[in-house]
Amino acid sequence: PLSTADLIEEHRICVCVRKRPLNKKELTIRDLDVITIPSKDVVMVHEPKQKVDLTRYLENQTFRFDYAFDDSTTNEMVYRFTARPLVETIFERGMATCFAYGQTGSGKTHTMGGDFSGKNQDCSKGIYALAARDVFVMLKKPCYRKLELQVYATFFEIYSGKVFDLLNGKAKLRVLEDGKQQVQVVGLHERDVKCTEDVLKLIEVGNSCRTSGQTSANAHSSRSHAVFQIILRRKGKMHGKFSLIDLAGNERGADTSSADRQTRLEGAEINKSLLALKECIRALGRNKPHTPFRASKLTQVLRDSFIGENSQMTVTTCIILNVGPLVKMPISLLELTVDT
Ligand code: ADP
Ligand code: MG
Repeated sequence: PLSTADLIEEHRICVCVRKRPLNKKELTIRDLDVITIPSKDVVMVHEPKQKVDLTRYLENQTFRFDYAFDDSTTNEMVYRFTARPLVETIFERGMATCFAYGQTGSGKTHTMGGDFSGKNQDCSKGIYALAARDVFVMLKKPCYRKLELQVYATFFEIYSGKVFDLLNGKAKLRVLEDGKQQVQVVGLHERDVKCTEDVLKLIEVGNSCRTSGQTSANAHSSRSHAVFQIILRRKGKMHGKFSLIDLAGNERGADTSSADRQTRLEGAEINKSLLALKECIRALGRNKPHTPFRASKLTQVLRDSFIGENSQMTVTTCIILNVGPLVKMPISLLELTVDT
């Protein structure tokens, strides 16, 4: 069995950190910025295996990430070093997964979904859309055109261990596992997409569905995992699948002290799924029976992306750890990085 360090070495897991800029409020308390990415030099920032100093937050600890993106980095740049290589993976019959992980307010939705800060809801600059754009660029390459691949997209949400279809009015869906251990989300709408614009429309539909009927959009979305998938099929059979996931906020410590029961239960569910996720990522590349994907709904529906539908399929994962300049650091997935 491979260790996590081996997998990182093999580039089957890429772990990155992205720091978001200080917002207006935070600018007034600048000295609380607890995360140092050593070089502000744009070229150096993307140097692999860069050390990120978290000593002011976690005592005497420095972590090494595959890439560290400072607060001046654009989505396009983050995309190029994280999800872009995974687009290649799905064309080469692989299963790819890209997670945005971090506390609420750290920039996960900005990274994956796009810019929703102003009045303009611009999803064209998020990693979902950038990946879709490149899928259609790749399709035109002669070597792939001859495969006659079809592209489909799904968009769903996992909230308190339940699955809801964001492309079908938030219909609640059942997850079934058949005798051959294939996991199926029953009735999940898989939409036929022909171009980037088709995908952008679906992202918009899904995003508005995600937040509709909520008194506080972020309060709800921060407590659910959003899964956007691009699926390539050849003659009806799965050729590759890219899952892009805006994970529920990992609010460190907050859940145990919070007042109401519902919030505590949600928090417990989120912790359970993030722990299960860590274990499944750790198990990547080991023997199948040891992948504890049943431990949460999130890992269960991503089962084929951890194991591969058959042994010929490569499985690749990228984790973008989103951090605010002064929010508490969600450390659980940090353990996947190479501690130095
Ligand atoms: P999360 O989804 O992790 O809760 P958001 O993506 O909603 O966090 O980000 C919180 C706020 O910070 C939003 O107003 C968002 O527009 C802003 N933001 C996040 N990342 C960036 C960034 N890299 N550049 C500019 N603004 C950002
Ligand atoms: Mg969000």
